[in-house]
This record gives sequence, C-alpha cells and structure tokens, in this order.
Amino acid sequence: MIATPYPRRQFGSDNFAGICPEAWAGLAEANHGHSESYGNDPWTADACRLIREVLETDCEVFFVFNGTAANSLALASFCHSYDGIFCHQLAHVEKDECGAPEFFTGGAKLIPLPGANAKLDPATLEQAAQARTDIHFCKARAVTITQGTEAGTVYRPEEIRALTSTAHRLGLRVHMDGARFANAVASLGCRPREITWEAGVDVLSFGGTKNGIPVGDAVVFFNKELAREFDYRAKHGGQLASKMRFMSAPWVGMLRDGAWLRHAAHANAMAQRLEAAISGLPAIRVSYPRQANAVFVQMAPALAQSLEARGWTFYQMHGEPDYRFMCAWDTTPEDVDAFAKDVREVAAGS
Ligand SMILES: *Cc1c(COP(=O)(O)O)cnc(C)c1O
Repeated sequence: MIATPYPRRQFGSDNFAGICPEAWAGLAEANHGHSESYGNDPWTADACRLIREVLETDCEVFFVFNGTAANSLALASFCHSYDGIFCHQLAHVEKDECGAPEFFTGGAKLIPLPGANAKLDPATLEQAAQARTDIHFCKARAVTITQGTEAGTVYRPEEIRALTSTAHRLGLRVHMDGARFANAVASLGCRPREITWEAGVDVLSFGGTKNGIPVGDAVVFFNKELAREFDYRAKHGGQLASKMRFMSAPWVGMLRDGAWLRHAAHANAMAQRLEAAISGLPAIRVSYPRQANAVFVQMAPALAQSLEARGWTFYQMHGEPDYRFMCAWDTTPEDVDAFAKDVREVAAGS
C-alpha cells in the first residue's frame, strides 16, 4: 500500500481531500452489473434529476471531467472566436486555465477587470463594455463571475442580480464559475435558485470535486437554448466519459440527502474557526473578508517558511505576501487547532 505523502490533513487545497463517504457510497452502488455507457444510464439520469431538484428548475445538465472543461465549454457554447468575455482579474478562467477558455471558444478574448474582494461590480462592467464598441475591438459577449470567489468571498444575491441586469442590458450572457458553489450557498444560507437562474445567471459550472466528489463537474444551462449541441461540444472536447455512471453516481450520493451542503457548511465553519484563532495576531493580517472555506492572510515570507518547516502545506496566492489556508469537507476542529497553535507560535517568534 502506498503511504499518503501527508501524515496529517493540510490547508493546501480543498482538492487535497479524498472522496467523501456519501460520494463513495454512490460510486460503489453504481459498480455492479452492466449498464449503458456515455451517460445513458440510470445514475446519470438521477444525478440530473437531483441537480434540477436542488436548483428548483428544469435545466439542462452535463457532466465533464473538471472545472476547466466546464468553464471553457460553457463559455464556448455562446462565444465566437471574435468575442470578448469579461471576468475579474483574479478569475480562475484568467489565471489558472492555461488558455483553455480561449482555446475552446476558438480565440475569444478574456478581459480582466478590477474589483474589490475579487468581485466584479456593475459600474466597472458597464464602463468596460462600453469603452470599445467599434469593429476594431472584440465584440462584448459574456461576463463570467466566480461564486465563491478566488479570494474566499461570496456574492450576495442582490449583487448578482445587479450584475446580471447590467450584463443583459448590455447584451452579455452570464456564466457563473461555481467550483465552490456549495460553499457559497452554505455561506449565504440561501436557496441555490436565488443566486443562479432567479438572479439572471444563464449557465453555471457546478463544482463537485472540491466538495468531496472524486471527479466530474456539472455544466448547468438555465437558458436551454444555449445548451444546443453541447453534447457534441463536450464529445469534441474529449469530455464525454464513456463510463459516465462513475462520474454521475457520486453526485447522486452527494445530493440525495443534502451531504453537498453539509460538507460545504462544515468546511466554511472550519475556516471560520481558523480565522477566529489567528486573526488579531500582529504578524498576520487577514486580507479578505472570510465568507467561505478559505482564510487569506498576509504575512512575512519568513513566517510562511517557519510554518512549512513545521510540516504544514498551504499556497501562496495572488502574489507575495498573500497566502491561502483552505479547509475541506474533512478538515477537523483538531486540525484547525493544531495549525492555529503553530501559526500563533511562529507569529510570536517562538
Ligand atoms: C478549482 C477551480 C476550478 C476548476 O479547476 P479544475 O482544476 O479544472 O477542476 C474552477 N474555478 C475555480 C474558481 C476553482 O477554484
């Protein structure tokens, strides 16, 4: 048996964590007998039904292998090669997808915009969309927002409504990167519909991986017209799983009894516990309002190195001196307390 590289749980990423028990149970239940392939199986049908139930609407649902594919293919379903896509300058599509959105759209231009706490605001979007409307610039076509954001913050429903009404007035489609959609819903305590279709979102990348699913994120079209031929687009992009049931069955396990929200709420609570334990230290500054499952801090690189020397793993994000402590569905209060103790000791110089 191969030993895990980390003898204890870390704060590196929510995708360091394993598969949660509910997703694992779903997977195991699908692993018997023969079934139709390429998504024509009862588990995939049930996962789609459960996603519609959670979102309380009749949407089109597709499963792809990861978030990069979900975002890129979703954007490609309504962006031409000559179009422009507005996003926040810290957005995953801009910073962490290796040009995949540009590739799958055939060349659409991502246009990064500033915004406090990693959120876009309507005025900035409007100004950017109207700055160039001539033939020599790309055609403003879409805006993509991240919920929860890359800085661990969350858009409130009214913020999303304000953005989408501006976007739609400007003729833009709205995509939501929901790699941590569950954490956002848990944080807001709202119904999923309030921050998606009811708030004007056209298509959602619904992330499962970071919340305990082994592999496979969902692309959810609220505007069904935009889903036209998405099945071909996914296949063409190498994103149609032949043994689809092993991607969709974990979703069934996760959604049928609300585990997806419980795990997300737990991860959020662990981040809140960590924040409470380390905020107020003179050597540490919490850099963004903590609203989901991550605590972002600024600290001297030497401090970060001391923590690493004590065996902790976490990421530097958005450039020095910003670091991210990420909690997962399986982070325990004891993990948080042990880490926080070391943070406090290191910050006090002992
Ligand atoms: C993790 C993440 C994704 C998806 O990344 P993949 O590695 O492609 O699964 C997308 N958006 C955000 C904001 C993320 O944090």
